[in-house]
Amino acid sequence: MQQRRPTRQIVLGDERVGFVRIGGGLPNRDGTPTVPAPVSVQTMTAGYTHDAEKCVAEINKLAAAGADVVRVAVPEKKDTDALREILPRVRVPIVADVHFHFQRALEAVEAGVHKIRLNPGNINDRAQVIDVIQACKAKGLPIRVGVNEGSIIERRDKQKRMKELGAVFGEHKHGYLLAIMITKLEEYLDIFYEQDFHDISISAKSMDATIVIDAYTEISKRFDHPLHLGVTHAGPKETGCIRSIAALSALLCNGVGDTVRISYANDPIYEVQDGLELLYSLGLRTRRGVDLIACPTCGRIQVDLFTLVQDVRKSLERIELPLKVAVMGCVVNGPGEAEGADVAVFAGDRRGIIYVQGERVANVPEEQILERLMQECVAFEEKVKRGEAKLGEKKVDILPPDPIGELGSGFDKIAAGKVEHVPVGVSVGRS
Ligand code: SF4
Repeated sequence: MQQRRPTRQIVLGDERVGFVRIGGGLPNRDGTPTVPAPVSVQTMTAGYTHDAEKCVAEINKLAAAGADVVRVAVPEKKDTDALREILPRVRVPIVADVHFHFQRALEAVEAGVHKIRLNPGNINDRAQVIDVIQACKAKGLPIRVGVNEGSIIERRDKQKRMKELGAVFGEHKHGYLLAIMITKLEEYLDIFYEQDFHDISISAKSMDATIVIDAYTEISKRFDHPLHLGVTHAGPKETGCIRSIAALSALLCNGVGDTVRISYANDPIYEVQDGLELLYSLGLRTRRGVDLIACPTCGRIQVDLFTLVQDVRKSLERIELPLKVAVMGCVVNGPGEAEGADVAVFAGDRRGIIYVQGERVANVPEEQILERLMQECVAFEEKVKRGEAKLGEKKVDILPPDPIGELGSGFDKIAAGKVEHVPVGVSVGRS
């Protein structure tokens, strides 16, 4: 992992919903130093903004799931009208995404939205852009300038321009496209700079993960504004997840990116959950809720582990603290692979042995594993809250000495208490 790239910082929100900072590390225009803010997670509502009741419910659901910022579409006047009803009832900063008419941006600013997103491919009349900039400046609101590969008009003329522009970024596969995206950005941002407006974040999305990586990498070298990462039109969750994580991980590992939006053709709650999981996995955010580890497919599993894992995952949503919970399919490698877990179950022979910080607390039949495991998780969380235990303090500490040889699966011996508390580190094969 490389250090985060220092950027200017933008701030969105208000006293009521709180403030979200994006980027940082470089001083503000007035010379005030800034500290890089945690990478934030954004998403966009799926419903119509003009249906205010549903929109409020969706925004609050997304905020409860961990969204730091929620974007809403405002294609029509009835949508910006609805913002007046929506904004006082939500608990998270709201971005208005303006499609084709700059007037919607002005109305959204008047309604009290916290940020505006403009697409240079759709709103490019200089006077209109200046109107929006001035409206935002008067209220201290930031603007995201978001170029999308799909909405770049010159792209339609690509055969003609490919050769000419491709030479600019000759080392990249899609050099001509990068050249168009970056030129668009430079031209557009010049209007902002002329107006002495600098509260800007930038995005440059494509549905091709390699273009996304190349575009943001080049942009990060040219601009010091915070970057909003995303793969657009990533597709259904099943494949869009891989596409998005491939692009965003590559960038975040190189220190590029200050806020992320994962895009799926699905309920946006998944965008929030997966965006957060990505940041947790890269150590860019402190985990909220449980860290669940579990076995993959494996010939040693002797219980219905996959159903159990899904049931445990669902049940663990009620746990607030970042407990590490392991659901392992055997006692052969499970203890080693669950090392560091606060609560763990090792299953086999249609039973489960449950451990809490290295201490065996139960040996139950398969049908009781979920209930007992959850009881132990809840009890352990309460103990931590009372200050009687610490997360990650003790390690799971069992391993059979020769699980594959004399002991077979080892489960019956461990279940019977004949083998236990052999220190981790005894040499056994790992899956
Ligand atoms: S060998 Fe590893 S993956 Fe297989 S069931 Fe045991 S702990 Fe799980």
